Amino acid sequence: MSTVQEVRCWRCAHQHQAMLFCPACQAIQLVPPQADYFSVLGLPRHPALDEKLLARRYYELSRQLHPDLYQTGTPQEQEASLNNTALLNRAYRTLRDAVPRGQYWLELHGEQLGKENNRVPPKLAALVFAVHEQLEEASATRAAGKADEAQAELGHIREDLHAQLSQLRAELASNFSQWSENETQPGLLQALKTTLSALAYLHTLLRDVEKESEASWNV
Ligand SMILES: [Zn+2]
Repeated sequence: MSTVQEVRCWRCAHQHQAMLFCPACQAIQLVPPQADYFSVLGLPRHPALDEKLLARRYYELSRQLHPDLYQTGTPQEQEASLNNTALLNRAYRTLRDAVPRGQYWLELHGEQLGKENNRVPPKLAALVFAVHEQLEEASATRAAGKADEAQAELGHIREDLHAQLSQLRAELASNFSQWSENETQPGLLQALKTTLSALAYLHTLLRDVEKESEASWNV
């Protein structure tokens, strides 16, 4: 896994992980843009995080970085407050939801989801086949002028997909909980990649359902 970046405080020279404020003297820090999102939020570097704590840290830090507090500060402090606010927002958006958090965790381990998600994940093969068939049926129903019926059919597909979505999200949570700190586990990494690919594919299917649904409303 990539190592956590160390920086030195500009005011008191204390050496620490890249954080928004110096842990020794509380001075605002010039955080490098590639700083680790977990340390930006002052959280342990682990994918199974406490979401309530994450939200609390985010709001606390947002308040502490408010530009009004730096109006009389040096230009560097003002710049740091803007820069850190942008970084904090990026970190929070990435970590608050398990899916982007999982993708970020992959990146920290030098991996990435393939951009070409055309291949059907094997575990979803049966579902994908069924959904395509049902979508065609709904489309035929719509073509026959029965828009309400088509919407009802689409509702069933949506339910199936959401059930699968919950299952994959549970898998993701279970994967996260098995990581131990500062250790790369190839099996877990591969399993994480598989689950995230399946989730990405499922979202594509849901978009197809929404497209068909819109078409039905516009009959
Ligand atoms: Zn300091």
